[in-house]
Amino acid sequence: MTKTIFEKIILREIPATIHHEDDDLIIIDDINPVAPIHLLIIPKKKIETLNDLNVEDTELIGKMFHAAKKIAIKLGIDKSGYRTIFNCNEDGGQTVYHIHLHLIGGRSLGWPPG
Ligand code: 5GP
Repeated sequence: MTKTIFEKIILREIPATIHHEDDDLIIIDDINPVAPIHLLIIPKKKIETLNDLNVEDTELIGKMFHAAKKIAIKLGIDKSGYRTIFNCNEDGGQTVYHIHLHLIGGRSLGWPPG
């Protein structure tokens, strides 16, 4: 099976700016940031879309949000605020089919999204 960009980053086959890594997750800068802070929290387990989540992934998803909170505090945007987003499939704007949580902040974000 062909590897996604994120699997290649996890395997160090392509470079990325890595903020954190542990047994379950890697956190990197998005290559095309939409705000001053735009990180991707990526599980090492490949799950293609949110539709492919199983109940045994519940802890992993919780860990992703906990990591988002911790890095938001570290980067000093916890008080000003930030947004966390999972895009799912075409209408959701998903382009990489390996789930990832966007953490976006560092400016005031509009709502609703486009
Ligand atoms: P999606 O559109 O699937 O929700 O988000 C995929 C994200 O991955 C996009 O924001 C895109 O900019 C980012 N991205 C795509 N290719 C690369 C890459 O090679 N390196 C990094 N760091 N981010 C990437």
